[in-house]
Amino acid sequence: MKNIHSFDPEVAEALELELTRQRNGLEMIPSENFVSEAVLEALGSVSTNKYAEGYPGKRYYGGCQYIDIVEQLAIDRAKEIFGAEHVNVQPLSGAPANIAAYEALLNQGDTILGMDLSHGGHLTHGHPVTQSSKIYNFIRYKTNEEGKLDLDNLRAMALEHNPKLILIGYSAYSREIDFERVQEIADEIGAMTMADIAHIAGLIAAGEMNNPVPIFDVVTTTTHKTLRGPRGGMIMCKKKHAKAVDRAVFPGLQGGPHENVIAAKAIAFKEAMQPEFKEYARQIKANAKVLELELGSRGFKLMFGGTDNHLLLIDVTSKGVTGHEAETALDKAGITVNKNMIPDDPRKPLDPSGIRLGTPALTTRGMKEAEMKQIADWIDRAIISHDDDGKLGEIKAEVEEMTKDFPLYPNLSYIE
Ligand SMILES: *Cc1c(COP(=O)(O)O)cnc(C)c1O
Repeated sequence: MKNIHSFDPEVAEALELELTRQRNGLEMIPSENFVSEAVLEALGSVSTNKYAEGYPGKRYYGGCQYIDIVEQLAIDRAKEIFGAEHVNVQPLSGAPANIAAYEALLNQGDTILGMDLSHGGHLTHGHPVTQSSKIYNFIRYKTNEEGKLDLDNLRAMALEHNPKLILIGYSAYSREIDFERVQEIADEIGAMTMADIAHIAGLIAAGEMNNPVPIFDVVTTTTHKTLRGPRGGMIMCKKKHAKAVDRAVFPGLQGGPHENVIAAKAIAFKEAMQPEFKEYARQIKANAKVLELELGSRGFKLMFGGTDNHLLLIDVTSKGVTGHEAETALDKAGITVNKNMIPDDPRKPLDPSGIRLGTPALTTRGMKEAEMKQIADWIDRAIISHDDDGKLGEIKAEVEEMTKDFPLYPNLSYIE
């Protein structure tokens, strides 16, 4: 990366430090991943130069004939992977994809039934701090006493509130979802259905989790979490909603699409169609299961009773620390997780009771069951020694030693 360094050493050096941080640590934030070198290349390609407002074959700018090929490839591959009738690959990220989907399906004041944030929902599903919460009437359901998604309760709430849209899909929920039953509930009251599969899209693409796309009205996703593509969003829907969805994205919400990101999405989708990706998704789940067993046996309290996917939500207060203390201690030990609310958390969002961790990024680096056992031990030791910087430094050195066996972007450098 000579050009960055010779012109702008300040940015180059910061990028190099970030690369080193990614290489030397254990990335366990469940929404993060490491894209392939092909995806990185596409993000830095000349397609970033092109304005292409509109859709393939119907653009508002000249010179889009090659960009059309790229965007159409992304659309066709997503349709094939998920069994979608219609796909829009232009949403800039997960949050704008959700806003566009609401705009496509609803009118101001309409009622949406979505999951409470502390029970695993996402901010964009009606949290009072969002703009959407001022436009639509969000009613929030919760997980039940055993910590499971309770579809009988969802049905009762649907009958009571008569929502126009039932919203499924979570950021911190770790169990399988019965989309067919949700569709039956929606049909009973004449509501539409939307799934936000931002976290689990890669697992669904590989056939490792239930797929709502052939069943639901609309499905939104990010492309950068388990799907392992560039930072971005996507909307899939039934043909009857295609026009409304496309109009809501452009010109309703966005201007020119980021075609460099769309090129990178096309490549990521091709990667997701390979047999290696199926194996990757299977290993993500196997690794998460090992963490569930190993951490559970060390006295960590696993929310929702464990995991069926790539993530774990853990109440760490039973180990004598808060979510913030656990996050800070693990950071010092070279393990990156995020503090997270647990259902009906008595504590505050900036210092909640839990941490959330997951296996997609570690699995991309090639780590398997044996490494997960070692990592569970480090997590336990780091939390026990949370106020002992010396002990945390010792763990960090062990972590760094292990990461050397799992090279990340071995030929990349921003400073030479
Ligand atoms: C991550 C996430 C989003 C938001 O995605 P951004 O790309 O950060 O805007 C939306 N919904 C769910 C369920 C998510 O997990």
